[in-house]
Amino acid sequence: LDPALMQAAEAIGSHVATPDLGAYWMPFTANRQFKQAPRLLARASGMHYWDVQGREVLDGVAGLWCVNAGHNRPRITAAIQKQAADMDFAPPFQMGHPKAFELASRIVQIAPAGMGKVFFANSGSEAVDTALKMALAYHRVRGEGTRTRLLGRDRGYHGVNFGGISVGGMVGNRKHFGLAVAGVDHLRHTHDPARNAYSNGQPAHGAEFADDLEKLVAMHDASNIAAVIVEPIAGSTGVLVPPMGYLQKLRELCTKHGILLIFDEVITGFGRTGAPFAAQTFGVTPDLITCAKGLTNGAVPMGAVIAKDEIYETFMQGPEHMIEFLHGYTYSGHPLACAAGLGTLDTYAEEGLLTRAGPQGDGIAAYFAQGVHSLKGEPHVIDVRNHGLVGGIELQGIAGEPTKRAFSVFLDCWAQGVLIRTTGDTIALSPPLIIERGHVDRIVETIRTALRRAA
Ligand code: PMP
Repeated sequence: LDPALMQAAEAIGSHVATPDLGAYWMPFTANRQFKQAPRLLARASGMHYWDVQGREVLDGVAGLWCVNAGHNRPRITAAIQKQAADMDFAPPFQMGHPKAFELASRIVQIAPAGMGKVFFANSGSEAVDTALKMALAYHRVRGEGTRTRLLGRDRGYHGVNFGGISVGGMVGNRKHFGLAVAGVDHLRHTHDPARNAYSNGQPAHGAEFADDLEKLVAMHDASNIAAVIVEPIAGSTGVLVPPMGYLQKLRELCTKHGILLIFDEVITGFGRTGAPFAAQTFGVTPDLITCAKGLTNGAVPMGAVIAKDEIYETFMQGPEHMIEFLHGYTYSGHPLACAAGLGTLDTYAEEGLLTRAGPQGDGIAAYFAQGVHSLKGEPHVIDVRNHGLVGGIELQGIAGEPTKRAFSVFLDCWAQGVLIRTTGDTIALSPPLIIERGHVDRIVETIRTALRRAA
C-alpha cells in the first residue's frame, strides 16, 4: 500500500490505547465488571497477542476458536489489502465476482465427497439459520411440506439468531427472550461423566443417546420432521466429544427416516480435529455443514453452508428464470471475506495445518492431550476432555455460583500472560494449529498455577 495511506491509517488508531469505555455495549460480556478493569488487545502475530500496554499474551484459544493458522499471516493480510484496493464490494444478488466462485470451489475440494455446493453468509449464526431454512425449503420443494419440525440437542450452541437459539440447548441464551421458533425438540446431550470421565479422545460409552431420535420420530412421525442439527464436538458448552458410534447412529436414523442431518462445524471446521472437517475425522457425512471462524482465519467475518449436491439439484427444478432459494445477505460472498478465505486456505494447505492435529500430523495433538490430561488431580478438576487440538478441563463449580471459579482461573491466566476461555465451569482450549510443544507447556503450566491459587 501507498506509505502515505498507511500513515493515515495508523493515525486513525493512534489514540485507541485509552478509549472512553462508556458507549460500547459489549457482547456476551459482563459490561460493568469489564469496564472496571478492561482487557484491551492492540496487536497480534502468530501465537501471540499484545495488549495496549504492550504486554505479550499467548493465545490458547485462537482468538475465539477461529484463528487456526495463527495471527496476522502475511498471505491473508496481503490478500485482504489487495482486494480492498481492487474492489470493495460487489452486489451478491443476480451479480457475482470471481473470488466467490473460486472460494466455493476450494471449499468443496476439502469437503466430504458429495458435498459440492457452498452458500455464503457472514457468521456462524447466519450459517445456522441459512441451513435450517435450506432444510425446510428442501422438503417443500420435494413436496414434503409437512416436514417442519427441527431437532437440536441439549447443550447445543448454534449461534444467537432466532433459529439458532431455538435449536440450541443453552437455556440461558433463550430464556431472556421468550419467543423462539416453534416446533423444536431436543435430543439429550452426550455428556456422561459417570461412565466417561477423563476419556482421551472419543468416549467409549453413549452411542445409545442417538436413539432419542427414534423417540421423537415415534412422537411426531418422521413425516413432520425436517432436520436434526448437532455440533460434532459441542464446543461452547464445554467441549463434549461424541461417544464412539454416536454420530454413525444418528446418520443411520436420519437416513432411515428421511430427516436431514446438519453438522454445525463452526468450531470443528478447518483442521481443529485433524481433518478439514470433523465429518471426515469421525467418518460420517451429513447433508449440510455449517462453518465460519476458521474459514477466513477470523480475519474477515464469513460463514458458509456446504450442501450435498442432491440438495442443490432438488432446488434447480423450477423454471430457469426463477430464483430457486429466496434467501441471502447483502454481504454474502463479500469480496474481502472471499479474498481472506482464499489466503487462509492457501496458508492451511502450504503448512499442512488441516491435518496436523490428526494421525498424519507431527504428534502435536497427542502432546496437547498429554498436557491437558496432566491437570487431572489438580484442585477442583473433575474431568478432562479432548480431541485433536480442542481441550476441556471441567472444574467443580462453586455451589450457587456457576462460572465463578473457572472465570477466576481465566483472570489469573490473563494476569500471567495466557489467554484461555471458560464456559460455565469448564476451561476450553483451542489453540492456533501452528502451536508448538513449548506453547502447550506454557498454557498447561499457567493453568496449573492458576488452579492451585484458586484453591
Ligand atoms: N455454531 C457454533 C457451533 C459455534 O460455536 C458458534 C460460535 N461460537 C456459532 C454457531 C455462532 O457463530 P457466530 O458467533 O459467528 O455467529
